[in-house]
Amino acid sequence: MMKVYQSIFEYTPDALLLIDPAGRITLANAQAETLFGYDRSELIDQPVEMLVPPRFSAQHASHRAEFMVEAHSREMGAAVELFAQRKHGGELPVDIMLSPMIVDGCHYTLCVVRDITERKAAEDERERQTAELRRLHAELELLANHDGLTGLYNWRAFYEHAGQMLKTAHRRQENTTLLMLDLDYFKQVNDRFGHAEGDRVLRAVAATLKATARENDIVARHGGEEFVVAALGLTEPESLMAAERLRGAVAAIENMKAPVTISIGVATFAPQTHKHEASRVLAELLDQADQALYAAKNNGRDQVCHFNRLAGLTQTCSRTSP
Ligand code: GH3
Ligand code: MG
Ligand code: MG
Repeated sequence: MMKVYQSIFEYTPDALLLIDPAGRITLANAQAETLFGYDRSELIDQPVEMLVPPRFSAQHASHRAEFMVEAHSREMGAAVELFAQRKHGGELPVDIMLSPMIVDGCHYTLCVVRDITERKAAEDERERQTAELRRLHAELELLANHDGLTGLYNWRAFYEHAGQMLKTAHRRQENTTLLMLDLDYFKQVNDRFGHAEGDRVLRAVAATLKATARENDIVARHGGEEFVVAALGLTEPESLMAAERLRGAVAAIENMKAPVTISIGVATFAPQTHKHEASRVLAELLDQADQALYAAKNNGRDQVCHFNRLAGLTQTCSRTSP
């Protein structure tokens, strides 16, 4: 019968080691020889730390001493990854199970070591795939919300953020301002210098608008050579000043093949006592800003015009000289 137990020990598919109270290897089975690459004769009576990577061996020795007095079965490495040291070929990831064994009144430890190289490789691959999916998801989100040429919010994102801004404005009972900006005679840029130069101008204007607007303003490309900006809490005169600042910043752009100017239409939505549907308010604001923009264009371009002041047009469209 003893032979059967010996055979079970010997042929168990996991590596088995019996460690004596001093931390020396007393028994090792065939799989232990295979896993660690030592002959049994090289293992017996040696400190078990010979199978632990050098960087962990000091720590291992003190943990082992603790386990000897604790004396109950447990799994190692629930929270950390464990590695074993081979004779040749470096480290390998392992699962380790420990079981206290009392033999002739002495505390031994039965140690089961399983090679998890393949499982870990599969886990690493899954982690890699998850990270890749996350990256793709972030990229998709960026593409879905941003304009590819200028990096500004696209129309979809603008709509969403402006809707939020209208809610905030209602809660705080503040004005919401919408600016519609359109490059002047932009077609000529393409015609004279080519589409690539046109794109360069669009990128420069976008960067200037973004840099000049306040941090909480929403700046977006409306499409083509049109941009929109939404701002919170500006009075009508303040909104004209903000628009004028943007206009001036664009007019001051350097290093383009021809001067770049924009016309801006402004509309203000005053706080209401009742809540309004964001999409309706936005549509109305866009329509008003568009009318004001049209007036600014007709009045000579490179200027700012507020919808509420369209009546006495010539004095109300502003263009402060730099
Ligand atoms: P206005 O002062 O009246 O606004 O004149 P405009 O020439 O700017 O206006 P128009 O609408 O006639 O022309 C707009 C031009 O913008 C036409 C189109 O080729 C160009 N455009 C639109 N999107 C892009 C783009 O992504 N890249 C480039 N290079 N050009 C664009
Ligand atoms: Mg246009
Ligand atoms: Mg234009």
